[in-house]
This record gives sequence, structure tokens and C-alpha cells, in this order.
Amino acid sequence: MKNYEIKYLRNKLLNEQQKVESQLAQAKTYNFGADRPIGNSIGELSTYDNHPADLGTETFEQEKYVAIRNQQLEYLGDIRDSLQRIEKGTYGICAYCGAEIGFERLDSYPTAKLCIGCQKGEKEEEIETNIVY
Ligand SMILES: [Zn+2]
Repeated sequence: MKNYEIKYLRNKLLNEQQKVESQLAQAKTYNFGADRPIGNSIGELSTYDNHPADLGTETFEQEKYVAIRNQQLEYLGDIRDSLQRIEKGTYGICAYCGAEIGFERLDSYPTAKLCIGCQKGEKEEEIETNIVY
């Protein structure tokens, strides 16, 4: 990959990093967070008729929130990892076969660690192991 291509992708990663970090910071200010015990966010007024269905919705919302948050944290980890690989000069090289991942693939998927061939192989394996006979 050319130097200017790496520079371009580095900028892209830095922008993404900033975006995800601010999303995570914003999420912290929401009224219900991952560390907040269930029940607190329902409010005192409704505690006298605590309908199980309401609690179910509450738990579901919280689980969804935690799942999104975990996804964002994982993505942020991938972004930081990619930036580190740029520093080390190993960015854009397939972690499995050592081939160049290619600019076009990295442009649409800047945190890619595998070339498209290895990624496909991995996906097919995943699908195969998920088949229930
Ligand atoms: Zn590969």
C-alpha cells in the first residue's frame, strides 16, 4: 500500500475513534447505565404495582444497551489495534496468510485484519459449525 493510502486510512480510523469515543461518553450520561441496578430507573411511583411485564421490558432494554455498548467497546478496541499496526508497519497485511489486504477493502472496512479470501474461509467455517442436523 502507498504511503498516502495509509495516511488516508489512518485519518479515517482516527475519525472513527473520535466518533465511537464520543458515543460512549454520551451513553454514560443516559439515565440508565450498565452499572445501574434494575429497579432504580423504573422510579418510585411505580414500585407499588411492579408489573412483571414492565420489569421484563426494563431488563430487555438494559440488555440491548449493554450489547450495543459492548459492540462499541469492541469496535474501539479494533480501531486502536489498527492504529497500533499502522505504527508498527503491519497494517494492511493479512494476519492469517500475510497477503496484502488491499486498499479498497480497507477503505470500506478499515479495521480488517484478514484478506478477503481468509475472511471468507473463516465465515464458511462459522456457518458449517452452526449447522444443526
Ligand atoms: Zn489472508
